[in-house]
Amino acid sequence: ALKITLECINCDVCEPVCPNQAIYMGEEIYQIDPDLCTECVGHFDTPQCQLFCPVDCIPHDPEHVESQQALLQKYEGLQALQ
Ligand code: SF4
Ligand code: SF4
Repeated sequence: ALKITLECINCDVCEPVCPNQAIYMGEEIYQIDPDLCTECVGHFDTPQCQLFCPVDCIPHDPEHVESQQALLQKYEGLQALQ
């Protein structure tokens, strides 16, 4: 999963472009739910939030490092819920 750092300026650009609705407004800044973030695997070649964030504050989350296969499995699990 990716994570949003404190450099976030709450511009609201990332939230609507996430295909998994993983981004939400937290207490102070936008946040990413790691259970929903597939790093855009299954939807896009590039993480959309990273692509559109104007201040480049969405790195990989070191606490949620996942293989491509794990991300694909998460994507398939989320699809099955729909
Ligand atoms: Fe959503 Fe993709 Fe960003 Fe993860 S990487 S939060 S799935 S837009
Ligand atoms: Fe914050 Fe970047 Fe999302 Fe804007 S696009 S709300 S700066 S994480």
